[in-house]
Amino acid sequence: KAKKMAKASSKVNNAAVLGAGIMGGGIAYQSAYKGVPIVMKDIAQPALDLGLSEASKISAKLVERGRSTPAKMAKVLNSIVPSLDYSAISSAEVIVEAVVENENVKAAVLKETESHVSEDAILTSNTSTISIDSLAENLQRPDKFCGMHFFNPVHKMPLVEVIRSKHSSEETINKVVGYATQMGKTAIVVNDCPGFFVNRVLFPYIGGFNNLVADGADITQVDKVMEKQFGWPMGPAYLLDVVGIDTAHHCQGVMAEGFPERMQQPSKDLVKAMFEANRYGQKNNLGFYRYE
Ligand code: NAD
Repeated sequence: KAKKMAKASSKVNNAAVLGAGIMGGGIAYQSAYKGVPIVMKDIAQPALDLGLSEASKISAKLVERGRSTPAKMAKVLNSIVPSLDYSAISSAEVIVEAVVENENVKAAVLKETESHVSEDAILTSNTSTISIDSLAENLQRPDKFCGMHFFNPVHKMPLVEVIRSKHSSEETINKVVGYATQMGKTAIVVNDCPGFFVNRVLFPYIGGFNNLVADGADITQVDKVMEKQFGWPMGPAYLLDVVGIDTAHHCQGVMAEGFPERMQQPSKDLVKAMFEANRYGQKNNLGFYRYE
């Protein structure tokens, strides 16, 4: 019984997300949907409006498919509190930083956040490529910080990587794993290194795809085999379009730098060529495929 009570008291009741973009909007929606009210903070009103409209779209789809009711969805949307002001996050127990992927911006945002929340609050970063150890260096309470890496689209992807820095306390990791679980996700705890877990598996696979194409394979044929015949949800080219080829290009560079011997550069770098041709995938309707 004591254990049960300890578990119940460690539940997160108030959260905050910094950044209302693709990820921040998705994180806000998922937290609210699973009953944890969340403040969504950005620096610009149009960004907040976009985050909220994304959450409404996901909600509307669920209602349309008969998987939720308008009343439940109104409650969910009401528990996302948009704000341009740090004062709104003062009672958050867990804060997920999901601003642009720029180390200087993240460092400044995390530092500022620390001064607006309680001493017990836990800060996390949703970064895909920046070292959690190095973000921790800049903080007053590095033991209360770790990575919390979601995948896009947040409401559909089941995994969250919880990244332990050299300084993260066990209590911090447990609380963040608990919050991910409250959000209906499966959390894995990993050490800090380039690519964490998923991208260390994913980018060698993308490299393999790249080499196949450099050797003369047809892109759509590779996708067809992986998806229709092998049975994966999608092939590598379509996956890159979903992830965003600009994001993939950046991440591929970070992986090559982190693991120079293992991540050999292919003779023809397809991801780089697509990036240089401004073909970013679904986000600009043109990648390996066209989207209208
Ligand atoms: P995005 O560009 O869609 O959104 C970023 C948001 O941050 C914008 O709304 C911007 O206004 C806001 N912002 C910028 N500076 C801010 C500040 N000082 N305070 C508050 N908000 C600020 O980016 P995104 O794709 O949502 O990515 C956000 C983070 O999530 C990045 O670190 C990225 O690496 C990571 N991530 C992205 C994906 C993905 O597939 N897009 C997946 C996993 C992790």
